[in-house]
Amino acid sequence: MYLKTLTVRGFKSFASATTFEFEPGVTAVVGPNGSGKSNVVDALAWVMGEQGAKTLRGGKMEDVIFAGTSDRPALGRAQVTLTIDNTDGALPIEYTEVTISRTLFRSGGSEYAINGSPCRLLDIQELLSDSGLGREMHVIVGQGQLDRVLRATPEDRRGFIEEAAGILKHRRRKEKTLRKLDATQANLQRLEDLTQEIG
Ligand code: ATP
Repeated sequence: MYLKTLTVRGFKSFASATTFEFEPGVTAVVGPNGSGKSNVVDALAWVMGEQGAKTLRGGKMEDVIFAGTSDRPALGRAQVTLTIDNTDGALPIEYTEVTISRTLFRSGGSEYAINGSPCRLLDIQELLSDSGLGREMHVIVGQGQLDRVLRATPEDRRGFIEEAAGILKHRRRKEKTLRKLDATQANLQRLEDLTQEIG
């Protein structure tokens, strides 16, 4: 599995549609300070389901939409599309190429799609989580973040590894199931009480 193309439109400094084509192996993005290199990484995190405005270096999610410059008005929506090569089947979906896209409207609405079909954010997060590209985004190591990983508590470090190994999804499901079991147990107890009262 590798990232094939990334198209940004109306996202941060990228007002016009801009497509980045990647090859397998290492890709380096170079450019002067403030030219938008980190915005490319933000776009990757965003399309893969990042929900934290701060992680995206903004105050609120709307800040990812092109805010306008002296010669170009602000835009009403940000859209990022990522195409992933899945010939090795790393993503649990029967396509050798997977395209995910995310759109945010200034009015507040959001749209998500997998291979052109509308879906929920959760579907994208679940699709990617087995590959290690989960919602916690530990595969994206930002500037200064290495320091944080080195100073993390053992629990946090375990979280990084679980996310990368695709285990976190199952742990979350287990926790959800345990909560449901608890609720069912409580219902059963109530039923027993009622039966005794009637009997
Ligand atoms: P450095 O090397 O200094 O880290 P960089 O190349 O990584 O810089 P970025 O941080 O990616 O640069 O880009 C910053 C630029 O993006 C700034 O000029 C900022 O004004 C612009 N920018 C960020 N958000 C928006 C937005 N919503 N609309 C328009 N421009 C934006």
